[in-house]
Amino acid sequence: MTRSIKHWIDGKLVAGVSGRTAEVFNPALGEVQATVPLANKADVDAAVASAAEAFKAWSATPPLRRARVMFKFRELIEANLKDLAAVVTSEHGKVLSDAEGSIIRGMEVVEFAAGIPHLLKGDYTEQVGGGIDSWSTRQALGVCAGITPFNFPAMVPMWMFPVALACGNSFILKPSERDPSCGVMLGELLKQAGLPDGVFNVLHGDKEAVDGLLAHPDVAAISFVGSTPIAEYVYQTGTAQNKRMQALGGAKNHMVVMPDADIEQATDALMGAAYGSAGERCMAVSVAVAVGDAGDALMQQLTPRVRALKVGPGTDPDSEMGPLVTAVHKAKVEGYIDQGVAEGATLVVDGRGLTLQGYENGFYTGGTLFDNVTTDMSIYKDEIFGPVLSVVRAKTYSEAAEMVNAHEFGNGAAIFTRDGDAARDFANQVKIGMVGVNVPIPVPMAFHSFGGWKRSMFGDHHMHGQEGVRFYTRYKVVTARWPTGIRSGADFIMPTMR
Ligand code: NAD
Repeated sequence: MTRSIKHWIDGKLVAGVSGRTAEVFNPALGEVQATVPLANKADVDAAVASAAEAFKAWSATPPLRRARVMFKFRELIEANLKDLAAVVTSEHGKVLSDAEGSIIRGMEVVEFAAGIPHLLKGDYTEQVGGGIDSWSTRQALGVCAGITPFNFPAMVPMWMFPVALACGNSFILKPSERDPSCGVMLGELLKQAGLPDGVFNVLHGDKEAVDGLLAHPDVAAISFVGSTPIAEYVYQTGTAQNKRMQALGGAKNHMVVMPDADIEQATDALMGAAYGSAGERCMAVSVAVAVGDAGDALMQQLTPRVRALKVGPGTDPDSEMGPLVTAVHKAKVEGYIDQGVAEGATLVVDGRGLTLQGYENGFYTGGTLFDNVTTDMSIYKDEIFGPVLSVVRAKTYSEAAEMVNAHEFGNGAAIFTRDGDAARDFANQVKIGMVGVNVPIPVPMAFHSFGGWKRSMFGDHHMHGQEGVRFYTRYKVVTARWPTGIRSGADFIMPTMR
């Protein structure tokens, strides 16, 4: 008997009415471990109705009380860290220590949101006119929804809902149907933290659920994270319905290795950034651009390290890298390796067809390394989202920087160098949202904001930090006077200070 995962609506576990389900795998074993319901319009309506009703009282709750729910929630995440990580690993496959790290990065957004009374403070000006004062304030939007990808089932939802809730919104999370259990656990912890029923809901589903949220007139704003084609579709459909939208998409993050870089450090950085979480990270480095004679030195150090990568189930503390999320995804990643070979790249380490004793059905692909990749190849152009690193050779720094800027995606990029001039130019000139200088995965902290440029993000606001507060609130300015009985008569011209 497999487990039946439920929706979390109005503070309760509910089966939903659609009757459609999807299978949830344990990727380490390659076995189905649960089924998840896929919402239809009636399920969407139930979640939105609950969230819309709950919004009325929650938005009127003093920010300090909302902040205290965040403080309590933060303590519960800490207390349940191991259990949350175990669920992430069992459905996603990543190693437990990495799962824990991702939950802590999500928890840091909860810590940021606990400062919401300060973050919501407006500006006040006395005497904008004679006896007239003016102030600005930011107010909650209403029902907000978050549609999230499989690769961070705790952290990416936590980029969104702590800020949305603390600002006074209610929230519907539509997690990935491939690893949906973590979202429900977070809902249960929020209830324990004192969040009223209906303020946070988890609605499982696929395109039908997403389309239902996009079409629903009572959904005010949607945050999306996922692949670029779906991000673009969701953004365009939502804005056509006059919803506030932000949609983060895919990536192809380059790391430029300059000839003066410490090659050992660059190699360490590339190992973690390319193969951590089996490359299923939107900030993974999938292209190393080796400038000048950095190329041969880098390949010499990288090759034995990639060959020695310890691939195994995420629950094994010795594993450095777990399986891919599904058999379909593994086939897609290995298909790209086939294409790279066909297109003429040099396959230095081949991770295809890896089977592990005791885990023969698991979705494992070993670490893969290509050299002499060129910009016209599909393994360079497309996001593979697996443990495949492409090394591209560039003659000069300018050639490398142009390559980064010409790529369709603009999520993250890094430069490894000892040359402050090159590093400064790179940080200043690259068309990329998040830039690292000798930092391979420059994921911004919770009090800064996360987001890419070009086709890695559609919309104006990055996630969490002050950008998150702006996204989840509407700006209002009040201008007030208290006349003392002197009537000035009707005004037919613009009032000015002259
Ligand atoms: P995905 O686009 O397949 O799915 C994302 C969400 O969209 C899921 O909730 C899914 O149910 C829903 N969805 C899927 N197909 C849909 C459709 N046709 N219509 C409407 N909704 C649909 O992405 P994924 O495979 O779950 O996640 C991996 C992708 O996410 C990668 O491209 C990765 O780069 C990206 N990602 C980006 C960031 C970022 O911050 N930019 C962060 C994490 C992941």
